[in-house]
Amino acid sequence: MTRDAVTSARHQHRRRWMLAIPLVCFAFWSGGIGAAAQAAELPRILVLATGGTIAGQADPRATGAYKSGQITGEQLMQSVPGLDKLAKINAEQISSIGSQDMNDKVWFALARRIQDAFDKNEADGVIVTHGTDTLEETAFFLDNVVRGDKPVVIVGSMRPATAVSADGPGNLYEAVQVAADPRSRGRGVMAVLNDKIQGARSVTKTNTTSIETFSSANDGPVGYVDTAGGIRFMAQAPGFRRTTYQLPAGEQLPRVEIVYSHANMDAVPIEDAISHGAKGIVLAGVGDGNTSKSALDALEAAAKKGIVVVRSTRVRSGFVTRNVEVDDDKNGFVVSEDLNPQKARVLTQLLIAGGVTASAELQKAFTATW
Ligand code: GLU
Repeated sequence: MTRDAVTSARHQHRRRWMLAIPLVCFAFWSGGIGAAAQAAELPRILVLATGGTIAGQADPRATGAYKSGQITGEQLMQSVPGLDKLAKINAEQISSIGSQDMNDKVWFALARRIQDAFDKNEADGVIVTHGTDTLEETAFFLDNVVRGDKPVVIVGSMRPATAVSADGPGNLYEAVQVAADPRSRGRGVMAVLNDKIQGARSVTKTNTTSIETFSSANDGPVGYVDTAGGIRFMAQAPGFRRTTYQLPAGEQLPRVEIVYSHANMDAVPIEDAISHGAKGIVLAGVGDGNTSKSALDALEAAAKKGIVVVRSTRVRSGFVTRNVEVDDDKNGFVVSEDLNPQKARVLTQLLIAGGVTASAELQKAFTATW
């Protein structure tokens, strides 16, 4: 090649680069803008982590043993691939406890943070990560105090992150699917685990260790979710009304005890609850909210003293009906309808905290949704 030919080839090469560089820059610039625009359009999900098995880690000293509440919400979300395509996620740690230690302080902190995020339009949906033991109680509490129609999803797992076939990542992914979907609005607080979406009022834990543990005995799931099929909401009962109560000042709800009924039942657990300052007693009755003659007498005496008495049942499905074997009108008792004892306790606490103690008014609140 002559010297001129080499020089001309070099010029051509340089010209090509001079054209190519702006093109490459434009491609990067427009790609960046595109990605940024896409991220800006994604729903904003606030994750509030409380602990539980979903944040648990195996104990290396014992097979099958683990400690709940070890991993932060931030780490949890980062461990699930693909969440960044579903939503813009911001995680905050509210507590790091097993849900057997769930308490009013954490409940109030959760309720206030969720309400604030919705009122200030910081989030389009909220996810609460939680242990499964008392998940249904927190779901029901939040359902009764958080105002607005943005979705609140509560999620947990039965196996820790370090287990073979951990269920946490899949449950978290599905929780984000539900919380980020506009069709989830106006459905109250929902629990999402093992491909099912269940309402706060009905959902309950039914198996101590299986991943197929949450069920809604009286009405079934409100919907189903999976990564392939997406979300399928079932038809909701028309006329279902959700009431929200004012969160009381401070960080504590009034003392309400659950008394579990059984054969050979006497009045001791009821008298005990009263002597420890219970403002209300929820009976986990046998059958249709029944209990023995001596326990009933003790409950009647309690109601006469102004203690709220609510008859619920230890049976997993069905309703507790007024004035069947027990004269509720005469005794001043309330029946819990479909609410299991642990949820009847939450509603009783909220009502007493709001100054509602007359049995007729209490009964109205328990039946208000029908
Ligand atoms: N007891 C633990 C809790 O409720 C473990 C149950 C679970 O998260 O699955 O946090």
